[in-house]
Amino acid sequence: MPVLRVALDLPLHRLFDYVAAEASPADVGRRVRVPFGRGEKIGVIVEVVAESDWPLAQLKEAGEILCDTAPLPDDFFALCAFASHYYQAALGEVILQALPGGLKRMAAPTRRNVRAPAPLAPKPAPELTTEQASAVAAVDPAGGFAVHLLHGVTGSGKTEVYLRLIDKALLAGRQVLLLVPEINLTPQLEERVRSRFVEAHVVSLHSELAEAARERNWRAAFSGEASIVLGTRLAIFTPMPRLGLIVIDEEHDPSFKQQDGMRYSARDIGVFRARQLGIPILLGSATPSLESWANARGGRYGMISLAQRANPEATLPTVRMVDTRRKTLKEGVSDPLIAAIRQRLERGEQSLVFLNRRGYAPVLACPACGWVSRCTRCAANMVLHLADRRLRCHHCGCEHRVPKACPTCGNQDIHPFGRGTQRLEGWLQEQFPEARVLRVDRDSVKSRKQWEAVLERIHGGEADILVGTQMLAKGHDFPKLTLVGVLGADSALFSADWRAPERLFAQLMQVAGRAGRAELKGEVLIQTEYPDHPLYAALVAHDYPGYAATLLKEREQAGFPPYSFQAMLRAEAPAMADAIAFLKAASLLPPVQEHEQVMIYDPIPMKMARLANLERGQLLAESFSRPALQAFLPRWREAIESIKAPSKLRWHIEVDPFEF
Ligand SMILES: [Zn+2]
Ligand SMILES: [Zn+2]
Repeated sequence: MPVLRVALDLPLHRLFDYVAAEASPADVGRRVRVPFGRGEKIGVIVEVVAESDWPLAQLKEAGEILCDTAPLPDDFFALCAFASHYYQAALGEVILQALPGGLKRMAAPTRRNVRAPAPLAPKPAPELTTEQASAVAAVDPAGGFAVHLLHGVTGSGKTEVYLRLIDKALLAGRQVLLLVPEINLTPQLEERVRSRFVEAHVVSLHSELAEAARERNWRAAFSGEASIVLGTRLAIFTPMPRLGLIVIDEEHDPSFKQQDGMRYSARDIGVFRARQLGIPILLGSATPSLESWANARGGRYGMISLAQRANPEATLPTVRMVDTRRKTLKEGVSDPLIAAIRQRLERGEQSLVFLNRRGYAPVLACPACGWVSRCTRCAANMVLHLADRRLRCHHCGCEHRVPKACPTCGNQDIHPFGRGTQRLEGWLQEQFPEARVLRVDRDSVKSRKQWEAVLERIHGGEADILVGTQMLAKGHDFPKLTLVGVLGADSALFSADWRAPERLFAQLMQVAGRAGRAELKGEVLIQTEYPDHPLYAALVAHDYPGYAATLLKEREQAGFPPYSFQAMLRAEAPAMADAIAFLKAASLLPPVQEHEQVMIYDPIPMKMARLANLERGQLLAESFSRPALQAFLPRWREAIESIKAPSKLRWHIEVDPFEF
């Protein structure tokens, strides 16, 4: 009797065998209902074989094989197998997480009629600059596998390059996958794609779609009916029969890294997928990740540069440091910045004050007894949100009402310390009562609708001063915005996280890029106590390549990625001692001794040691050889699985870890 080998959504590194009298090899790639425990699950058939390793009598019988979609293709399984092996994730979890929810549930969802999106007026393509034209010419959708890094300064018109390449691929009869970091923040891009390709079937795929819509769009991509898929990181797994080009916009963005479950990088999986299919992939950014930059400098990736802004009238903004050591600040704002804002108001232009900290103040404290608003569940302070009078932990989400007096000594005179966007917004409004101040952060903009409304207000000139977090930094054109002021950036200069300078530089370069995108000249003022820091000097010179070279040299000397390869074992438990003891045991397992090219460090508490009542520790494994690390990891993981750990302890391995 035929035996089905079925992938189930379980954190177990094995497949499950079932007998099925009617099954044939043609069923590989189909979904199947199978009994599991006391219930039923939906799995995916990975193999149909004649015999099982188990006695046939012990195998349960599979239920219905679902034929409502075509079988998942071989290249989908190969991609999932690669991800499973590379990230040490269970194959079943990888396969099932790649499917939309509706295909994994028992009951078929009720179908609703779909309203087709309103037809857009087609927008003609603008003329390309010389640089854009050679960028388009450099990528050949029919030329086989190639990775291209498109390094384009802010405003250089990377999107137009994407659109031309998409056009090339469509003309060749191929599908295109365009990945963006956060779809809600990029309604302009989606509109540009749809209005350029009015004839094409464009679908989006991201986690905020309703389940039915996501399933419908996934099916359209899988059947080949949709020719352009615009998605976030999870879309990288979507099976597409005619895929001919992958584009990853803002490839440096941390959102491409999944931070729970299978901790994968959609960019890295994209590169593997392009190689597997023999197609080109384009990675675009004004501030590429150092990994991609090093690959391009080393000749492994092709390098395409857009050094000029696409609009010949728009020059890069002037970046200046405001040395705050010699200035008195009012609510953290210096006189030169206030004067610059006033000047913009008089000229009817917009200003943006960037402070990457939301809330009113990062902490509430009692000067009498030293009480501070700590989160009881995390190693973090509760942030004061005055708008709704709450104390809120930005890590675990727990919140309380703001106390009227100090909970420890009863002192009624408790103060907010430091400042966030709400406080800055209020103060700026007091300073400039005639101005329209608009705060843009995750507290004021929670949905795509709200975000679109905010963009409309900014474009319509209904705001004079924007106060915002990095939400505002991403790829938008605000033609009237001519001033960007940056507050509080210094704190990331000397962070213990060695990736912090790379991130800070990218963030500041992006936010500075908002100024002067049109004919009006832009100016950026960065308040700092370290005006001579090389990071700021590189910003003044708009010198990404120079700063990247400096950082890469530091990484090389310190033996950090991309010059070494890392995996992190993390454990969390109610008591730190248990987490550390577990990690210690993992560091002494036989595979550690047997793989001399892999170095294991001492277990340490994570920087944010407690989260939601769990203590967290980590253990770093590192090697100068990727193959050595990849050979070590599966053996190490298997050995770790056999450690007897306290029942409440959880652990996972993160390959190419991002946060420390
Ligand atoms: Zn007190
Ligand atoms: Zn918390």
